Amino acid sequence: MRAQFSVLLALSSLVFVVAPLAAQQTQPKPEDTEIWEPVPAVVTPGATCGAPPSDAIVLFDGKNLDEWVSAQDHTPAQWIVHDGIVTVSKAKGVGNIETKKKFKDYQLHIEWRIPENITGSGQARGNSGVFLASTGPGDDGYELQVLDSYNNKTYVNGQAGSIYKQSPPLVNPNRKPGEWQTYDIAWTAPTFNDDGSLKTPAYVTVFFNGVLVQNHFELKGQTLYIGKPFYKKYDSAPIKLQAHGDKSEPISFRNIWVRELP
Ligand code: MG
Repeated sequence: MRAQFSVLLALSSLVFVVAPLAAQQTQPKPEDTEIWEPVPAVVTPGATCGAPPSDAIVLFDGKNLDEWVSAQDHTPAQWIVHDGIVTVSKAKGVGNIETKKKFKDYQLHIEWRIPENITGSGQARGNSGVFLASTGPGDDGYELQVLDSYNNKTYVNGQAGSIYKQSPPLVNPNRKPGEWQTYDIAWTAPTFNDDGSLKTPAYVTVFFNGVLVQNHFELKGQTLYIGKPFYKKYDSAPIKLQAHGDKSEPISFRNIWVRELP
């Protein structure tokens, strides 16, 4: 009897010792959710909104098209550089231009201006485009539409700020023709399995003149003029600008830079 009592006493005192210890071990602490490594790299922001930060690759700074080639045959880009800007050439045989460098995931800043004297209507009024990945010499790839959508009716998934034929912009923050406009884009490239099937889709977030118009939109594939979108395997791709075949006055671009993402 005495032995049993001693065992009980020993057990109960053990409970008093172990229980608080266990409680101490499972009690969440602030440090549990702190991450200290790796430390994000320090980047100096541009002096003004839209100016390239210190880790950007400048694709066009107003001086030349050294970073660009013809999308058709990779000869030097023939668009017209003047007054610190570049204007689309609609001359026969010139066509789209694309970056020499290829990209996967990135942040892109680009500014564009519809001429003040723009004519035409619908898709034939200042049409161009930023192909976020150019997967062919023609209009193959993934197009963020450029168009005069200030006061110009067209299908909403083809207006400025749309992912062409896939996603209308959330709102319309267009400025008037003659004024400079900005796109700030985060592009997550699609990834593919060895057999060419899709592993993960492409996503895009777009700020248009500082206003969110595409919020982590999941693309259904390449942006096609006709037909249902589908994915085609690629690894990395240039960024392409469109010389659209409409008859309206050519638009201009300036201040183009990109930051590659890990
Ligand atoms: Mg276009």
